[in-house]
Amino acid sequence: TEVYVSFGPVQSFISQARTTHDLWTGSYLLSILGREAIRSVLENHPDTKVIRPYLDSETPDHQIALRRVEGIDKRVGTVPNLIEFDANGNPSAIAESAVDGWTTMWNNICKEARTRVESVTSSSSQDAFMPIWERQVNSLWDSYWVIGEYTGLTRRKAIRNFSEDAEHGRKCTICGNREILRPKSTDFDDIKSFWDKLAKNLSGAQIQEEGSERLCGVCLTKRMCPGILHDLVGSNKSPFPSTVSFATLPWRLAIVKSDDANLKNLTKKYLSELKDAGLFQLEGLWKPNDTKKNKRDDYHPLLNYDGDYFLPEQVQPEHLDLPERVCDTLGSTLKSLRQKSEQLGIPNPTPYYAVLSMDGDSIGETLSNNPGSKKCLSKHMSEFAKRAVEIVEDEWGRLIYAGGDDVLAFLPTHTALQTAYQIREAFMEAMDKTGIDNPPTISAGIVFAHYSAPMSSVVSRSHSLLEHVAKEHIAPKNVVSQGRIKKDAFAIETWDRGGTNLHVVKKWESSGRKELRTWTEVLGDVGSRFTKNADVPLTSSFIHSAAESIRKMEWEYDDADTVEELFLVNYLRSRDEKISKLKKDPDGREKAAALISKLVDLTLCWDGDDCTYNPDHLLFAQFLSRGGVY
Ligand SMILES: [Zn+2]
Ligand SMILES: [Zn+2]
Repeated sequence: TEVYVSFGPVQSFISQARTTHDLWTGSYLLSILGREAIRSVLENHPDTKVIRPYLDSETPDHQIALRRVEGIDKRVGTVPNLIEFDANGNPSAIAESAVDGWTTMWNNICKEARTRVESVTSSSSQDAFMPIWERQVNSLWDSYWVIGEYTGLTRRKAIRNFSEDAEHGRKCTICGNREILRPKSTDFDDIKSFWDKLAKNLSGAQIQEEGSERLCGVCLTKRMCPGILHDLVGSNKSPFPSTVSFATLPWRLAIVKSDDANLKNLTKKYLSELKDAGLFQLEGLWKPNDTKKNKRDDYHPLLNYDGDYFLPEQVQPEHLDLPERVCDTLGSTLKSLRQKSEQLGIPNPTPYYAVLSMDGDSIGETLSNNPGSKKCLSKHMSEFAKRAVEIVEDEWGRLIYAGGDDVLAFLPTHTALQTAYQIREAFMEAMDKTGIDNPPTISAGIVFAHYSAPMSSVVSRSHSLLEHVAKEHIAPKNVVSQGRIKKDAFAIETWDRGGTNLHVVKKWESSGRKELRTWTEVLGDVGSRFTKNADVPLTSSFIHSAAESIRKMEWEYDDADTVEELFLVNYLRSRDEKISKLKKDPDGREKAAALISKLVDLTLCWDGDDCTYNPDHLLFAQFLSRGGVY
């Protein structure tokens, strides 16, 4: 008999986070709790098989399965919140055993967290906040189970469904809906001083000082989890890069790659100043240290610092908590470093990073059409998830979650698109191996966000782009390969501070009129023309005037030749020295025409069989090539 056990809340629990590290913690914690649910079932009901997550174990030997459970990733959440068992006994006993495993682990974590807080607070304040804490952590989880065929959550049955106590008083600064932990006095100054003391005395929780962070029991427990999980289950304690760290990475990588002696000296100078200021490198920032393949063992120290130290607006006394004198020294060297790198053609660091959400298309439909291939599908998806971790980390990204066909990752802007494309390729490869006719495809939502945009909103936006834009995208029949008309697409949005946002939605494999090329290829090619050294260069003024004319004219697909001619005339009219030369040479004119043809292809925007020209596509190419300026 099939038994499905599901735990929640998932989305809200993960997304209630201030930093990328909080986000990772929430997701990883869910994975660990899921793991304990499985362990409990395997220990108490050895005849049970685990269908999802796939445990790589074809044999019924539950010892092997247990070891697989132990081996579940130490740094990326991989256990889905819906666990599927093949029961060989009392199904409800199995479901209850799973819930037991989950709850026991959660209680252990909470107990450990309380012990740590107890050691740094007075017993009189404990009398006030412990009951709040208890109430909150005990009413957090809901669990459901379904026996027999799973047809969505309509037939779910709650085994425990705590009704949440009314939360009153001041609310938590992270989740905003649970009451804060507080001393006996409800006076705001007393509350702030309580949290300031906790911030100073409670190690490993990274609470902001001066009472600016005031948390509920759940958010505090979550904040303490990296240290607690490390002690309880040996999980990885490596920091997760901040959004600013992702944003400044392309610039830092370009500096590390440069051979310029002056730049090298300035880099050295800045690094020694950072060190003198008592700022430390973060270990395992880009590749958590317990991976087997540790290809980038010696990271350049420049890459190991938090991104804050590379944006002038962040190198300020109030941000870094350093004396003004020290910040002045750092700021002035940083300025020289930026000027020197700019002279060498390295664009300055930009404030953008990328969030990538991906999810398999029509998995449920595939399963109901191919009931016999469930296990095979589950196996290949789990192989895919492992591959996704490698792909993302090789491209300077980090995963929040990779379970089954679900992926959530943070990436620097310069690798985000190609990473998404590689993951898609890996998914298609894995699905081909299942031998299923019309195997599932995968879609993506990618947000390029300014680091000051609220991070949890950026993450939800990437989800909704994936669900409501990419998966709703319908491609024209004539450019679709293998009959996949719907989904199998990606949607992109840029998220600036109040500026205009760019929108792109595309099939993975339907770029041009003349040839089937991937959009990432075309983008990369076009993007490389924005540098001064390009033999057929693109200028910002040309792109903006082209975008403007697209906006004004309502061209259709059949107008492509007209559009091309118009763009070419416009392009050759430029007073740019290089372009003037191209104009005089027939060979040069041909090269220019080829580029313009590519640009026109790039702007094509399909909605079913309707085609329009989208100026955002041009502006996005420029956005990417300059790491965020358009
Ligand atoms: Zn909270
Ligand atoms: Zn297979």
